[in-house]
Amino acid sequence: MPFESSWQTEDHLLIEDTIKRFFAEEIVPNEPEWEKAGQVDESVWTTAGALGLLGGGIPEAFGGLGIDAGIDALICAEQGRVNALGWGFVVHTIVKNYIVMQGTPEQKAKWLPQLASGQAIPSIVMSEPGAGSDLKGIRTRAVRDGDDLVIDGSKIFISNGQTSNMLIVVARTGDTGSARDISLVVVEPEQADQVIRGRNLDKIGMKAQDTSELRFDGVRVPKENILGGVEGRGFGQLMQELPWERLMIAYWSLGAIEGALDLTIDYVNDRKAFGRHVMDFQNTRFVLARCKMKLELTRAYVDKCMVQYLAGELDAASASIAKLWATEAQGEVIDACLQLHGGYGYMSEYPISQFYANARVQRIYGGTSEIMLELISRSLV
Ligand SMILES: Cc1cc2nc3c(=O)[nH]c(=O)nc-3n(C[C@H](O)[C@H](O)[C@H](O)COP(=O)(O)OP(=O)(O)OC[C@H]3O[C@@H](n4cnc5c(N)ncnc54)[C@H](O)[C@@H]3O)c2cc1C
Repeated sequence: MPFESSWQTEDHLLIEDTIKRFFAEEIVPNEPEWEKAGQVDESVWTTAGALGLLGGGIPEAFGGLGIDAGIDALICAEQGRVNALGWGFVVHTIVKNYIVMQGTPEQKAKWLPQLASGQAIPSIVMSEPGAGSDLKGIRTRAVRDGDDLVIDGSKIFISNGQTSNMLIVVARTGDTGSARDISLVVVEPEQADQVIRGRNLDKIGMKAQDTSELRFDGVRVPKENILGGVEGRGFGQLMQELPWERLMIAYWSLGAIEGALDLTIDYVNDRKAFGRHVMDFQNTRFVLARCKMKLELTRAYVDKCMVQYLAGELDAASASIAKLWATEAQGEVIDACLQLHGGYGYMSEYPISQFYANARVQRIYGGTSEIMLELISRSLV
């Protein structure tokens, strides 16, 4: 029986089959080729768009489905479950959310249809070589020149970095020394060619996902491309929208826990040692029972956060708890599942090893575990 979360409506249930079919037919079979290429085929975006998978949370008037963003949680969880992570959907839901929640009516009308159709491939461009956790330390600048903004600076670790053509860039637009110096500036498809793509970085996991250095060397965009239309709001916008990013990462972890547990149950029911199935050892059953417990506790908490989000009430501490708990549970469960595979678990050809390699970064991006603890602790004082 598939699990149905309390926030799911008939609309979500109807689209769930499409999501599963999309991953089974369009993503999983192509992942090995994409891993060799270090990036996905860009056509996957328009395929997803044509199926309506990119329109969650976007009003119909702007090319969306008129269904809430809950479908994005289902997509993230399914992607984690099948462990084919090259397609940078999580960035799509992040960027889309910024524009839905923070864009002016004109910005929504222009950019959301491009995102819903898959013509726009998104990146969220925050991290710099000298500033990751400490975003106030960024040095990239966007300086007014007539009717334009001119962006200069270097960024690193940017997901979809080789392929994106709609980039939300965190840039310094002032020098007052306050949080109001930061703005979010959108580089649209017609300006994206100006962005210099650096190395596609070689990672220990997520091999089909392009993660890149980017250089902005006089990139010119219209001054109207400041998200929300007013300079200096960027830091506040980040604080408001980062909880959604963290919740989506948590759903990804939820799916990965489920996928790793399922394939391990199959493995230990098949593998024999000392004349018995590995599943017959009490240790195996207890280890898997703990994994199941962590799966269900993770699901309960992230679903509670989704209910809060859909009511407009997801706070920073709750989203941080979701990310911290879910990504740590993912690491613990997958480590335990790999152990139950014995030596085969360490071999690349066994899927659990890929779950292991892909899991590690979940505790780093979207705010590290230490930053999550910092944010949670702030809610206690
Ligand atoms: C695969 C991948 C994809 C990514 N995708 C993107 C993307 O699309 N866009 C983007 O902008 N960025 C992206 N990132 C960057 C990611 O968000 C940063 O790596 C992350 O925020 C940490 O920043 P940092 O690497 O500079 O580490 P640092 O900030 O240098 O942290 C180093 C260590 O110090 C700890 N630390 C830092 N500050 C504190 C503190 N106040 N208290 C306690 N401990 C602290 C950290 O937790 C960490 O353990 C990606 C990273 C990876 C690996």
